[in-house]
Amino acid sequence: MSRVVIVGGGAAGLELASMLGKSAGKKHEIVLVEPETHHYWKPRFHEIAAGTFDSDLDTVCYFSHGAKHGYMHYQAWMQDIDRDHKQLVVRKPNGETDQLAYDYLVIAIGAISNDFATLGAKEHCLFLDTPEQARHSWQLISTLLRSGGHRSVNIVGAGATGVELAAELAKVSEQLSSNPHAAKLQINLIEAADRILPNSPVKMSTQALSKLENHGIKVMLNTRIAAVENDGMTTSDGLHINADIQFWAAGIKAPDWLKNIGGLATNRLNQLEVEQTLVTTTDDSIFALGDCAAIPQANGTMVPPKAQAANRAAVHLAKSLTGKLNGQDLTPFVYKDGGMVVAIGHNFAISTMMNDRLILQGSLVRRLYDTIFRLHQKTVSGLLTMSRLIIIKRLKCIFKPSTN
Ligand SMILES: Cc1cc2nc3c(=O)[nH]c(=O)nc-3n(C[C@H](O)[C@H](O)[C@H](O)COP(=O)(O)OP(=O)(O)OC[C@H]3O[C@@H](n4cnc5c(N)ncnc54)[C@H](O)[C@@H]3O)c2cc1C
Repeated sequence: MSRVVIVGGGAAGLELASMLGKSAGKKHEIVLVEPETHHYWKPRFHEIAAGTFDSDLDTVCYFSHGAKHGYMHYQAWMQDIDRDHKQLVVRKPNGETDQLAYDYLVIAIGAISNDFATLGAKEHCLFLDTPEQARHSWQLISTLLRSGGHRSVNIVGAGATGVELAAELAKVSEQLSSNPHAAKLQINLIEAADRILPNSPVKMSTQALSKLENHGIKVMLNTRIAAVENDGMTTSDGLHINADIQFWAAGIKAPDWLKNIGGLATNRLNQLEVEQTLVTTTDDSIFALGDCAAIPQANGTMVPPKAQAANRAAVHLAKSLTGKLNGQDLTPFVYKDGGMVVAIGHNFAISTMMNDRLILQGSLVRRLYDTIFRLHQKTVSGLLTMSRLIIIKRLKCIFKPSTN
């Protein structure tokens, strides 16, 4: 019997634990090391920050889920690796340090925001890297909404995270517009590039921009932030942009503590360097996937850091590692990009498809955005549970009494 230790129960790690638990959990020991008690799908953190997330229906309790799906949840933070003795060093919630032996180790701890060492960003900006940070953001937004008058929110970075957050906050402010005590939020979305969603086709950026502007969001392009202060931020041109609350959503990197951990090779973003099989370039018993891994493709490109890529890598590694446990060779992960969907509020989304040749938008595309989350839910909990959750959510929307 081998022990596979998976670190991080996010988009990649939880899918991997669920699938490996099913395919290998009876013969081998599958352990998921994750500090949180519940799994939240990260692409929905902006909904937690805007107070629109349903935590009753859309979270998974690792402890009970693991018992049903063939893995064990070990609540702890990974801290280090002792590769000579194949031990993972962890810190438990009570502060104690422990060591966990592994035969195979899979690291899927995700990424954090990259503030590019901008002066004052750490001290004065909110980040959406953990559920805790997202919940804290909602506490502050909720207080701001209750404070009346005209208030403003700065969001740095107009990638998917910044755009979705800006739209969600604008929507919440619009919904409260008939309440005379509610603050009116001015959202400033600040981007250094010359268009929003800079990694998407130009047409998608243009359509998303016009939708954001319809919601009253002020989009500032070609604007680089030089410093963040308590009451706003200053651009490299010396312009001060006032705000009551500020978010940093520009760029990602793996956490600094991952840099060369246990002597493993990492790149300038602290991501673990892996082969196309997802095994690290330094140690053939350690794997990495998701946002914390630099995954090369045969054509010289790298797999992008997004949920879809994390999910597909997890599906691949579940099969490949099950084969390895049965004495077979690892297989290379070939990533085929299925396009991108960006939600702009609850009833609208824009997507690219067919290698960016087709751009769709509208409320039906918003359903497609939900489908991506539902597919994750199906992989993690099965078709029956996913279907039940969709029905309960529908019924809840129909029968929930209005509080207005
Ligand atoms: C607001 C927001 C919106 C987004 N929207 C989109 C979108 O529309 N489309 C898209 O494709 N992508 C989107 N993303 C990016 C997407 O969420 C990530 O690419 C994806 O979640 C990466 O999956 P992962 O498994 O690598 O990491 P994560 O899903 O981040 O999971 C990492 C897990 O590791 C755990 N962990 C962290 N540190 C430790 C430690 N020391 N020890 C043990 N466990 C640890 C964390 O608690 C977490 O559960 C969005 C991200 C954000 C923040």
